[in-house]
Amino acid sequence: MRKFDGKQLLVATHNAGKLAEIGALLKPFGVTVVSAGALGLPEPLETEDNFVGNARIKAHAAAKAAGMIALADDSGICVDGLKGAPGVYTADWAETPNGRDFKMAMERTWRELETVEAPKPRLARFCCTLVLAWPDGHDEVFEGEMRGQVVWPMRGDLGHGYDPIFQPEGFETTFGEMKADQKNEISHRSDAFRKLVTGCFT
Ligand code: IMP
Repeated sequence: MRKFDGKQLLVATHNAGKLAEIGALLKPFGVTVVSAGALGLPEPLETEDNFVGNARIKAHAAAKAAGMIALADDSGICVDGLKGAPGVYTADWAETPNGRDFKMAMERTWRELETVEAPKPRLARFCCTLVLAWPDGHDEVFEGEMRGQVVWPMRGDLGHGYDPIFQPEGFETTFGEMKADQKNEISHRSDAFRKLVTGCFT
């Protein structure tokens, strides 16, 4: 596995929150971060039908454009009873002409499960894929997941996205009812980041 041997990591995101979170995580390794947004890099279209494919598109586009090692992520919720949907289309299910509406997306998720009369518990998993890409075309891929079930009605107003309908395995609360530090200990994202840090930063 190739190690990160630079001083500054390019994060292929235009989201300031994501950049800050990743920056804090990598600070102990003496790594600073800069975002694709700050460098004015364009956002490529995510044209693949899987998380790895889309994370690869974003990481390689940024690495090539800036000549730096770049990190990209792609994530979403895959529901067994919906044959893995919404999957890479997790954010798309929330799109409206006036911005994202996750209440609508969660209602759709439950409605479709009811329509197909999916057996309970309605198993699902949150997935997070990280790709670290080098300007020469090499990459390393890390996949994290958290298994659980989709519950209804929505519970909790903490977190974001689909958190209020996802109850992780081994817990009675939804992600929407969990404090950030508790969720961060068990989430698909922290799973993937632990693998990234072990693989490329230590
Ligand atoms: P992206 O990877 O930033 O494109 O996000 C994909 C979608 O998955 C977003 O719409 C998020 O709301 C959703 N998502 C990813 N991780 C989580 C999570 O931990 N909780 C709730 N929703 C999530």
